[in-house]
Amino acid sequence: MIKKIFAVIFFCLLFTSAVWADTVERYQGKSQLDDNTVYFDLFNFQGTNYFSLRDIAALLNNSECSFSMEYDNENNAVIINRNEEYVSTGREFNKSTGKKKTKRESCILNVKSENTDFTLKTYNINNRNYIALRDICRILELNTKWDANTKTITLWYYDDMGEETDICNITVLPPVIVDKSKPMVALTFDDGPSVNTGRILDTLEKYNGVATFFVTGDNASKYGDTLRRIVDEESQIGNHTYGHLRLTALSADNIKYQVNRVQEIVASATGVYPTVVRPPYGSYNDFVKANIDLRMLNWNVDTLDWKTRNAQSTYDEVMNTLSDGNVILMHDLYSETADAVDKIVPEIINRGYQLVTVDQLIYAKGTIKGQIK
Ligand code: ZN
Repeated sequence: MIKKIFAVIFFCLLFTSAVWADTVERYQGKSQLDDNTVYFDLFNFQGTNYFSLRDIAALLNNSECSFSMEYDNENNAVIINRNEEYVSTGREFNKSTGKKKTKRESCILNVKSENTDFTLKTYNINNRNYIALRDICRILELNTKWDANTKTITLWYYDDMGEETDICNITVLPPVIVDKSKPMVALTFDDGPSVNTGRILDTLEKYNGVATFFVTGDNASKYGDTLRRIVDEESQIGNHTYGHLRLTALSADNIKYQVNRVQEIVASATGVYPTVVRPPYGSYNDFVKANIDLRMLNWNVDTLDWKTRNAQSTYDEVMNTLSDGNVILMHDLYSETADAVDKIVPEIINRGYQLVTVDQLIYAKGTIKGQIK
């Protein structure tokens, strides 16, 4: 007996708006359906894959499974059917876009189905509504398998006979923004945000660069606007734990609390959860590793900016050690560090390097310098 699901997306609430440079962290997806190779855009935003609702519908429609898809032009909606029964309806929202910039707006979608209400965070980019793959799977009662080696997502479901049936494989192709043939480094800033973070973001914006900010609980709570700016400008937020305590001295529950509380603070300010944790003082052991589910990362270049409080010395340390794949530790608490960044960023770019987030570095390199797990 097939459970009937009818879902309609009926409400959209805009609560943030941002303009991205055209080279957003956009990936291409590729799927093989019979003899046809289908390419489509998707983007990975802090560890979550977002697909256009239309692309997902088209993939399901072209698969051998009993999905079909149609457009409801009157309501500007996509309707996905399974075995002649409606399973989901999603709207595409119309927004005007600039010529050279890609406009992204985040929306909350409330989806009503027969039995369950879903609240989803989605993004509208260039008039298309992007939905996290895991959300669409939840609504459609589909399952996913991820193969990290081939970077392939398999969508599957239980058919009428209870057999696991694959719908399609989606291969995630490299992001547009990272050129693997060019050297790259990740600037990372710990312990903020602070009053000086804005200046660092100004410099990054000026040179179209990105960085990763490992934030603590108190500062993250105080600087919600800065967190949103980090995310809007394509940089990354990492989790530096709530109270900046030495995790090796804590119980399992306390380690989890220290991490989870920052996850919630960042998510409630920006709508996205950090994907990576940096333990305070770089201090960890097997017990700490076992009690943190997220990726963990230290660094391989320590500028000692907190100790010298000298822009020239911080600049020299970064430049004298400059090498492909470096993960560079600084602190966005200090004005001297912001001064150093003002010189570091253009010089790094001058020398032919790309500035990337740690997620981009991991995507490009696999395991990276300073990675704990
Ligand atoms: Zn720290």
